[in-house]
Amino acid sequence: MKKTEKLIEVKNLKKYFHVSKGKLLKAVDDITIDIYKGETLGLVGESGCGKSTAGRTIIQLYKATSGQVIYDGEDIQKKSSTEIKNMKKKMQMIFQDPYSSLNPRMTVLEIISEGIDNHEFHYNKKEKEDKVYELLELVGLNKRHATRYPHEFSGGQRQRIGIARALAVEPEFIIADEPIAALDVSIQAQIVNLLQELQEKKGLTFLFIAHDLSMVKYISDRIAVMYLGIIVELSDSEDLYDEPFHPYTKALLSAIPVPDPKIERIRERIILEGDVPNPMDPPSGCRFRTRCPSAMDICTESVPKWQEVSSNHFVACHLYNV
Ligand code: SF4
Repeated sequence: MKKTEKLIEVKNLKKYFHVSKGKLLKAVDDITIDIYKGETLGLVGESGCGKSTAGRTIIQLYKATSGQVIYDGEDIQKKSSTEIKNMKKKMQMIFQDPYSSLNPRMTVLEIISEGIDNHEFHYNKKEKEDKVYELLELVGLNKRHATRYPHEFSGGQRQRIGIARALAVEPEFIIADEPIAALDVSIQAQIVNLLQELQEKKGLTFLFIAHDLSMVKYISDRIAVMYLGIIVELSDSEDLYDEPFHPYTKALLSAIPVPDPKIERIRERIILEGDVPNPMDPPSGCRFRTRCPSAMDICTESVPKWQEVSSNHFVACHLYNV
């Protein structure tokens, strides 16, 4: 069923960083997007395109340079620091690297309890332990794991601990920042399945960040494609795979290997030349024009408009000027 009730409205969000000699790194340069209750929105793009910064700014780990984040109808920027702290409880993050994101000197019990303590849930010791045991069961681990240290676990298990830690404060919204990128392929599907199960059980809303389009397909209701600080395409997941519009999306899709070796051998691939340009000095007009196989003169001169090309399918590209 289509989800239509907005949980988060991101409006003209910008996040710039001051770097040397007064230069600005425009990591997120004006993004507007809604995230619906109970959905998974995939946010995809190569390294350095600003997707992690966008996630961290939405969740208030970074202070926005400008723009709004409206959470359940309330403008976060207009809240006091105490109110923001309370709202942050509802928004949690799962990190890419399950090795570095868990304190090696803490037991699993201490790691998961930490979030509970930080957010002043006022559980007594027994209640807190019971809560941790319940969370461990929920993510496919068990009570015996609570007294162990992170180095005693595999990568997949550590990511499960990271997920339990995020769930400890009973959030509504979770940003999963490349949660499977550091894991073996065989483990990736297990973590994706776990996130889907948790979403169903707890009615969670996810922003799932990934650098390619291979696994996002299985978890996302909608997908936004980001390039050099801006969103270039947004649509329902199936539509994006069936009929991508933006040349960048087409290139990302063509990079996914096809399991059938016969098809894999003969299919045409779009190879993207070069790296993502420097966000301190983005190209004029369309930011993708320096790597786009379909670039035209107009692409240097003017910024493509964001437009709905088919139902709920938006793109910013001069090839689709209507
Ligand atoms: Fe390519 Fe031009 Fe479209 Fe940009 S606007 S993606 S350069 S065709």
